[in-house]
Amino acid sequence: MRGASVSYIFPIYNETGNIPLLYQRVCEATADLPYDIELLFVNDGSADASLALLLDLQEHDDRVTVIDFARNYGHQLAVTAGLDAATGDAVIVMDSDLQDPPAVSRELLERWEDGYDVVYAQRRTRQDTAFKKATAAIFYKVLQKVSEIDIPPNTGDFRLLDRRVVEEIKKFREHDRFIRGMVSYIGFKQTAVQFDRDERFAGVTGYPLRKMLKLAADGILGFSTFPLTVISRMGFAAAGLSLLGVIYALYMKLFVPEAVIEGWTFIVIAVLFMGGLQLIMLGILGGYVGRIYKQVQNRPLYGVRNVYASHKVSRGTKN
Ligand code: UDP
Ligand code: MG
Repeated sequence: MRGASVSYIFPIYNETGNIPLLYQRVCEATADLPYDIELLFVNDGSADASLALLLDLQEHDDRVTVIDFARNYGHQLAVTAGLDAATGDAVIVMDSDLQDPPAVSRELLERWEDGYDVVYAQRRTRQDTAFKKATAAIFYKVLQKVSEIDIPPNTGDFRLLDRRVVEEIKKFREHDRFIRGMVSYIGFKQTAVQFDRDERFAGVTGYPLRKMLKLAADGILGFSTFPLTVISRMGFAAAGLSLLGVIYALYMKLFVPEAVIEGWTFIVIAVLFMGGLQLIMLGILGGYVGRIYKQVQNRPLYGVRNVYASHKVSRGTKN
């Protein structure tokens, strides 16, 4: 689509070694595209010379915008700031360490032109440690099982979002964010483009295990109240078992009284009964807490792709 604009969002955390080549690759990939290009770099509290490099780019290239965070807020918030600031009709989010090849963004744009609202880049192959691959696989299996969202396997945050999707995502103001979950949750016409994920070009990962676990927790807790329902399930299981225990205690008391110590029956019944009762009650509380949690997340209730009415279409279609 001629005349359309496209924003690229690059979260930057200590990427000095990558910025020059990243910029060069992005320039190559976008040189002959018929769009107005915007390059949004979000400096997420880098401790190295990243900011100076970015400001230098900004000085020489007016497509470049630099958002400088006051400290390191984390990748998901850096991407959020980019989405909030982006002006493009399509927005492309990618990592800045060249693991997501800028050239692939051209394929994302092609599918966007085909009419898709979300085009995610799916890893055909991946150069990561066996540990990272295995933990990621387990995480996505669990998330699939317990949550209401369906995240395509082997995708990160490298994806293209149509303006209408960005507007919906901007309504998600929760603090602990899992953006790829939000994108799955919101719907729209989604498709995948396959690519081979390279190794990080320079520098070290900004995602140590601690941050990975936090992201995994945000994904599961943010899109599922399943852990809370586990409590009441355990409660009912414990109550069922305690009923057996009660029957056993009464049987002993009535039919084998010589084997039973004075007071044993009462204590056993009381302990089992109270244990089961408490877990069931906790489960009920969990049910309410889950609803409160959903309410305070304050998410949009639904996303509208288009409104068709006889007088006009409420929001411009993109072609
Ligand atoms: N990143 C960020 N803030 C952080 C950690 C990472 O903005 O606190 C950026 C980083 O610069 C990169 C992207 O997020 O552009 C992905 O991070 P990284 O490559 O370190 O993660 P990995 O690929 O190892 O999972
Ligand atoms: Mg990386």
